[in-house]
Amino acid sequence: MSTRRRLFIQLVPVAGSGLLAGRAWAQAMVDEKDPQAAALGNAADAAKVDKAKYPKFAAGQACSSCALLQAKAGAAAGPCPLFPGKQVSAKGWCSAYAKKS
Ligand code: SF4
Repeated sequence: MSTRRRLFIQLVPVAGSGLLAGRAWAQAMVDEKDPQAAALGNAADAAKVDKAKYPKFAAGQACSSCALLQAKAGAAAGPCPLFPGKQVSAKGWCSAYAKKS
């Protein structure tokens, strides 16, 4: 067996497992109980934001209209730089909300 062929056979499973790991990573959602999420008042559903604790919250605000959400329009969830390696719900909210211009 050639060295090139042997290298290919050894790398294919490694590359495949990396793709699977990447897919799992992409699907991980922020847990509201995560310390950073809790500190920012993250809610997976903006309708459940504690308005007394977060008076800055206004009806209609959600991750889907936040400038920090890195998702295609209409996506149910996407990455937010405040939660590296996780996704936030488009219906969610946190106290770092910044309306898209
Ligand atoms: Fe959602 Fe914006 Fe807060 Fe990120 S910064 S969790 S997109 S409201």
